[in-house]
Amino acid sequence: MRIAVDTKRPAVFLDRDGTLIEDVGYLASLTRLQLIPWTIDVIRALNRAALPVVVVTNQSGVARQYFAEAFVQETHRAIDARLAAGGAHVDAYYYCPHHPDGKLPEYAVACDCRKPRSGLIDRAARDLTLDPSRSFVVGDSWGDVGLARAVGARAVLIRTGTGGMAAQHPRSGLTADAVADNLAAAASWILMRC
Ligand SMILES: [Mg+2]
Ligand SMILES: [Zn+2]
Repeated sequence: MRIAVDTKRPAVFLDRDGTLIEDVGYLASLTRLQLIPWTIDVIRALNRAALPVVVVTNQSGVARQYFAEAFVQETHRAIDARLAAGGAHVDAYYYCPHHPDGKLPEYAVACDCRKPRSGLIDRAARDLTLDPSRSFVVGDSWGDVGLARAVGARAVLIRTGTGGMAAQHPRSGLTADAVADNLAAAASWILMRC
């Protein structure tokens, strides 16, 4: 049973591929799973600051039939095991398995949860009693910045993964609150502001 809490908490929403783990295109085998070197230390620092850490990730490889939804969950368990070995934890994972052009009919939909749409954070906020407007989104693409804008959070675009390219190619109408070299720099920026 959930204890009634009337205070919504700020959280840190982290993209997965290119942010926590190396972006290898569509990760379809755990043999290619590689945490970015500072990921464990950064998440542990956020844990110690009592900031919920929530991963929000588009996994259209499911809709495209590159891998099954069960593999996405298996990947998250594998990430959890590596984090736990370093004394860090993610509070929850939310993923979008959809894509309008997907091969599998049940996933080939225009959903409300594919970033930059807000569905993943909306669900997390309900489940975990979070306040998106006091939260942060960190990611390596403009979709992550757009997600932050969609929920009223602050956005940090980082230059790992596809972020180096993204930072060089501004999107009209979208501005990140900060551009940082990597997740460690983004976390420093966040920890000074909450
Ligand atoms: Mg990414
Ligand atoms: Zn979706």
